Amino acid sequence: MTTTTTKPRGSQAVKAPAFDSAAIRSDFPLLQTQSHGKPLAYLDNAATSQKPQAVIAAAARYYTTYNANIHRGVYKLSVDATAAYEAAREKVARFINAPSEREIVFVRGATEAVNLVAATWGMENIHSGDEIILSEMEHHSNIVPWQLLAQRTGAVIKVISISQRGELSMDHYAQLLSDRTRLVALTHVSNALGTINPIERIVSMAKARGIPVLIDGAQSVPHLAIDVRKIGCDFFVFSGHKLYAPTGIGVLWAKGELLENMPPYQGGGDMISTVSFAGSTWNDIPHKFEAGTPHISGAIGLGVAIDYLGGIGMDAIAEYEHDLLLYATKQLNRIPGLQIIGTAPEKAAVISFIMENIHPHDIGTIVDGEGVAIRTGHHCCQPLMDHYNIAATARASLAFYNNREDVDRLVAAVEKVKEVFN
Ligand code: PMP
Repeated sequence: MTTTTTKPRGSQAVKAPAFDSAAIRSDFPLLQTQSHGKPLAYLDNAATSQKPQAVIAAAARYYTTYNANIHRGVYKLSVDATAAYEAAREKVARFINAPSEREIVFVRGATEAVNLVAATWGMENIHSGDEIILSEMEHHSNIVPWQLLAQRTGAVIKVISISQRGELSMDHYAQLLSDRTRLVALTHVSNALGTINPIERIVSMAKARGIPVLIDGAQSVPHLAIDVRKIGCDFFVFSGHKLYAPTGIGVLWAKGELLENMPPYQGGGDMISTVSFAGSTWNDIPHKFEAGTPHISGAIGLGVAIDYLGGIGMDAIAEYEHDLLLYATKQLNRIPGLQIIGTAPEKAAVISFIMENIHPHDIGTIVDGEGVAIRTGHHCCQPLMDHYNIAATARASLAFYNNREDVDRLVAAVEKVKEVFN
């Protein structure tokens, strides 16, 4: 792959070299395959991303050359595996600018991370009558764990409304913040609309009242450079598989003092310091939250994915994807009867759409026949679908390995959908 660098934002001095999307694409074996006898145009990146050869090779290398359990063995294989797993933790910390790798907890994914916070920090800090603020555009993973907590504690969930364009109502948010608010839990980027929420402002409004904030970064980490210190939140969660890494690995970042004071999530090996039948004591953070054998190859793969993205640069990725998003939006908007759901000015590379008198599942099935993979359904955002009074959308979500040809093929396939239904 030819790597590129971007010019510093605002600088006219250095012209950024062209983003070499063809070279990047060749790093992803699955993108070289065919679907229904046609080259694959993979446009379901918000659901999961494809993996570069470097990530696939790293997992294979682990299993073929140093597979061993970590943190326990004194022999070389185990020492090597432990070093690779812990090196991945350091890479994650640097990638999101966390103050310390001790604040990086490996989990299965964003869903498990939110559940961990709800079950530990939430059970300790949220009581009857306390309020948790969410928004209408949350993924079910950032709704249901809080509902479970509310059922257990008697807490109340408050929901920030959104505009027709799919932007959070900041006025409504300001109204909802109160002396009873104990947590704000919000998505950074909406998986169904693509809206990029103004999280720094959201966090600072909560912080002015001393309220902790959890940010669901599942959809932002693959598209934007993340700096948890700059964001100022308390918890930040994401999944590896949307970041070109294996499934089954994800990250909870939380401020060290919060993790220190949170009770363990699950009990078992590795999370303890001592165990006796009289009682057990806990390991240091982050190990206190990593009970049992973790997804070692997944963590190593995540570290390699981060290295790979570092070779391209998150700012270069954001710039390229933004350009592709504008192109795709323009091309899809040309199709009569097609309506894009989610038209906020600040958007990441997600385009949800509906078509007059055509069910999204029919759109998905017909475009699949053309080798174009998109998602259809409620995208785990049923309250958001209720807001728009629709059951589902078709959704194309882009990654940096997509190109204008993928978009043109989507547009041609959607034109075909219209022909079938005319
Ligand atoms: N939050 C958002 C915004 C998401 O898009 C997703 C995945 N679609 C999740 C949370 C949950 O991620 P996972 O299924 O990997 O745990």
